[in-house]
Amino acid sequence: MSKYGTAMVKNGRYKISGDFHRISPHTTIRDADNYNRLVGITKPGEITHIHSYGSEAVFFEGLGKKIIYGTRCDNPECESQGTVYLPFRIHCPDCLNKNSVVELTDLCRKHARIHTFMVCERAGAFNVLKEPVKFIDVEIEGVSTILMSYLSYGEPEIGMRIIPIFKTIDPGCSILDLSWVPADTYEENIPQGFGF
Ligand SMILES: [Zn+2]
Repeated sequence: MSKYGTAMVKNGRYKISGDFHRISPHTTIRDADNYNRLVGITKPGEITHIHSYGSEAVFFEGLGKKIIYGTRCDNPECESQGTVYLPFRIHCPDCLNKNSVVELTDLCRKHARIHTFMVCERAGAFNVLKEPVKFIDVEIEGVSTILMSYLSYGEPEIGMRIIPIFKTIDPGCSILDLSWVPADTYEENIPQGFGF
């Protein structure tokens, strides 16, 4: 049983159990150079957020099954009909109709390149990626948007052909389940728990 709050859906409703707000005893802050004068107190506390995926859930569920889903506007009245989106966009930004879900895995395997990249030597709070983090903007032929992700092996270069890898062992169902490596990477060089 998790020490944090957990949630499930039953009969169309969220059922939550456990603590979603946890407080710990505070401590005083004192000025060591000034007779230990009282300056303030710390306020420790933890919050567990419920982050609902809504219609994007299919995308996050797909990653653990090595499937990349994007969306496409299929509205014949829309000027942007046929436009393909990845990241997954529920609605077309032009006509606001609900997009169709389309599988883009094969396209990502054959036609993805690094559009640009950024190497981050020191990440901020709550980072779980190995530093330096190699953030990449992924450009996929036939897709109108750029996907932001991270390179798990090798050094990024603009225009480099890359292929997706997926966390299939204990997937966390978050965007971190999807990563990329240079197209000629051997299986032994990809992170544990990931597969092509
Ligand atoms: Zn549209």
